[in-house]
Amino acid sequence: MLLTLTTTHQPATDLGFLLHKNPGRVHEAPLSFGRAVLFYPELSESRSTFAMLLDIDPVALVRGKGRGSQGLFDQYVSDRPYVASSFLSVAIAKTLRNALNGSSKERPDLAAKAIPLSARVLPLPVRGAEDLVERLFKPLGYNVEIESIPLDAKLSYLGDGWDVSPYVCLNLSGTVKLSELLSHLYVLIPVLDKQKHYFVDRNELEKLVAKGESWLGGHPEKELIANRYLRFKRSWTREVLARLAFDEAIAEEAASELSVSSSGYGSGEGHAGGEDTGEPREARKDAAEEALERPIRLHELRLETVAEKLKELGARRVVDLGCGSGKLLKRLLAEMQFSEIVGIDVSSGSLENAARRLRLDTMPGKQRARIRILQGALTYRDRRIEGYDAAALVEVIEHLDSDRLSALERALFEFARPEHVIVTTPNREYNAKFEGMAPGQLRHADHRFEWTRQEFAKWAEPVAERFGYQVELSGIGDSDEEFGAPSQMAVFARVG
Ligand code: SAH
Repeated sequence: MLLTLTTTHQPATDLGFLLHKNPGRVHEAPLSFGRAVLFYPELSESRSTFAMLLDIDPVALVRGKGRGSQGLFDQYVSDRPYVASSFLSVAIAKTLRNALNGSSKERPDLAAKAIPLSARVLPLPVRGAEDLVERLFKPLGYNVEIESIPLDAKLSYLGDGWDVSPYVCLNLSGTVKLSELLSHLYVLIPVLDKQKHYFVDRNELEKLVAKGESWLGGHPEKELIANRYLRFKRSWTREVLARLAFDEAIAEEAASELSVSSSGYGSGEGHAGGEDTGEPREARKDAAEEALERPIRLHELRLETVAEKLKELGARRVVDLGCGSGKLLKRLLAEMQFSEIVGIDVSSGSLENAARRLRLDTMPGKQRARIRILQGALTYRDRRIEGYDAAALVEVIEHLDSDRLSALERALFEFARPEHVIVTTPNREYNAKFEGMAPGQLRHADHRFEWTRQEFAKWAEPVAERFGYQVELSGIGDSDEEFGAPSQMAVFARVG
């Protein structure tokens, strides 16, 4: 089966940087179920095309070498090796991971930008309503063209239904970010096919929330998508939809909170909550409680813990250092205690994402006045972040080379000198509990180090001592008896 991606963004040769695949050669990636061959059939300044050819080994599938092949491949006659399916999603995740996550070392700005892109997938099995492909892709802003692929006429002797081919060639085009296009394909191809080649567990739920974060919540077919993606586990579908709605609600409320009159959080214009517009704050509390009772993602838990801590410390003017795509900023904005919120990051692509997540361009004036996002490096003294009540560094320090860490320590604790500093970082000991992690492997490709609890203390305590702070260390997430909690947090308080 074949997936091609074409751009006419100029210079179109940048596609190689976006995909992290050198256009100068053919790449071959081994997969548990076969191999992917990646190459550029077309490459010029005005138009470039990337192709992924999946070569699935049908014999390996039958033998059960392909993961989770139980039951699906009980015979040699199967369409699996030849069609676009969950195998293609796995191949995208494995071979185009950075592009799928929206990161590009060489062209970070372009990765964060919507560009003219088209995709062609063939053959794609579509099971269900005839207009399903349009219903799934059109609301995402694509032009959709479908070519049907007729079955071999000889097969019609097999009986009713066999002459109607479920296979199509799908052509999508639009102006989108490459990461968006890839996550749409990643989620929607198995949805169209209605099958997965592996057992669907809770991990799939997390994947769907992560991959659908920026678009699924607003999709008119979100229920059908989640249902099919999660193999009709209705309680999971409800959970996914509630989590996506919770995210949306916070953004919407944050955007509308200050547009309402001083009489309270009434039904201000622009509040698109839909339901209990009289009491959005209460509604949010309910949603928050519901969200807390569900097992939540570690990163959400971290953000929640840090936001709560900042509230508890009584901070009003706060800086989020290494704010990334603005997830913490969004939470802080929803809390009126924070009168001034500043996000800083070195990556302009991340800042663009943050601006989008926060809907800065349409934010009402008073609300807009509470927040700023700035580009800056944390390893240099920066007068713009001096004099704040608190600074948060959520999952940032492990991205710095160890020798740059001392520069950050001075810039932060000696010069910016906020009253409180909250730092979170992974607890490396807990990695032993993550399935599929090789010993010594780090959680993220860009991490320069991950610390044990002892190593974190060995960093935090002398830093506190040197710069006149006290520090308290704690864990975030359910603690394992032997390995501790999955994440760890240090709260520094300035002495005097
Ligand atoms: N705090 C965010 C993002 C964590 S990822 C969150 O929790 O979601 C780490 C972030 O730190 C990235 O966005 C990266 O661009 C930023 N970063 C890494 N080194 C930096 C530096 N020297 N100066 C400023 N930002 C940096």
